[in-house]
Amino acid sequence: MILVLVTHDRGVIEETTFQALTLARGIADDLGWSLEAAWIGDEIAAESLAAHGVTAVHHVRHDGLDDYSPTAWGRALAQLVDAIGPEAVIAIGSDRGNEVMAHLGAITGAPMVANAREVTPEEPWAIVRTRWGGSLLESTELDAPIKILTVAEHAVESTPAQSPSSPDVVEFTPDLSESDLMTKVVDRVVATEGITLATAPVVVSGGRGVGSPDGFAALEELAGLLGGVVGCSRVVTNNGWRPHSDQVGQTGTVVAPDVYIACGISGAIQHWVGMMASKTIIAINTDAEASMVTKADYAVVGDLSEVVPDIVEELKSRRDGR
Ligand SMILES: Cc1cc2nc3c(=O)[nH]c(=O)nc-3n(C[C@H](O)[C@H](O)[C@H](O)COP(=O)(O)OP(=O)(O)OC[C@H]3O[C@@H](n4cnc5c(N)ncnc54)[C@H](O)[C@@H]3O)c2cc1C
Repeated sequence: MILVLVTHDRGVIEETTFQALTLARGIADDLGWSLEAAWIGDEIAAESLAAHGVTAVHHVRHDGLDDYSPTAWGRALAQLVDAIGPEAVIAIGSDRGNEVMAHLGAITGAPMVANAREVTPEEPWAIVRTRWGGSLLESTELDAPIKILTVAEHAVESTPAQSPSSPDVVEFTPDLSESDLMTKVVDRVVATEGITLATAPVVVSGGRGVGSPDGFAALEELAGLLGGVVGCSRVVTNNGWRPHSDQVGQTGTVVAPDVYIACGISGAIQHWVGMMASKTIIAINTDAEASMVTKADYAVVGDLSEVVPDIVEELKSRRDGR
């Protein structure tokens, strides 16, 4: 049996979890294993897993699991694994997925492979995985009685199963101590409303070339017209021009929108790995040799303080039928 940890935030599934389910289902089909899921916390949406061929959902409930707690999730998952004995445990390689699975590995003493892209499940399992924020691919082998791994976000396209299932929901109560719950979400501050950086279909991102916090007003306007959000590079967050929650890249958010517009961003590898999965990349930059310009699908070589307002004006005139 393969057990997939469903990563979610108070009942809202991380979209990329379905990518992990797709990879796990491929392995389960190859090996003739069943595909089951672990859901930790009260608010559950088991029906959304049916389309992915999950035959059972283990609903892990405990008073201390009303919100995210990495050690407690890891401990609870380890106890579930002990109880039901899966051959493999898989999660998506999101911040949350990697964190919980690292706890699971530490608690069970089993090796954990992070950010797998391809898995050949012949003993030992051959795995190609992403390292260094996506700039390096490593071929590795996983030789362990229980296979624990995460799937790199956006490395696998999420596809539903050929025939949907109607999963049984089975309750499981873990035994958690106070120390398991020492790290826990206790407060939340809403940074943005509506679409988020991680899910927006369009991201208009600004770098050092934007020049100042005020320079982002034009990018905000462009993003608004395109139904998108604003992102930025690390230079921008380091300068305090935008909050860290807007940062795209290795140490920020990994995005894969339909359109990514990079304004005044050079395309350093640490930024590139955070947006290279975008379907169409457009660069606006004064430097025709900038890495972002040479790698982009389309580029405008010019000063963004002129180019962005021109695009805004054109979009408005098309919208208004002028
Ligand atoms: C461990 C580590 C992790 C990191 N993580 C991240 C990360 O998550 N995200 C990230 O972004 N970076 C990250 N970085 C930093 C990264 O290496 C780069 O320093 C950063 O991405 C550069 O930001 P930038 O492109 O805005 O600035 P620059 O590299 O300075 O580029 C500015 C660009 O703007 C152009 N420009 C200037 N003026 C204009 C204008 N008027 N109009 C148009 N174009 C103009 C220039 O030609 C240039 O290409 C990380 C670095 C390290 C070491």
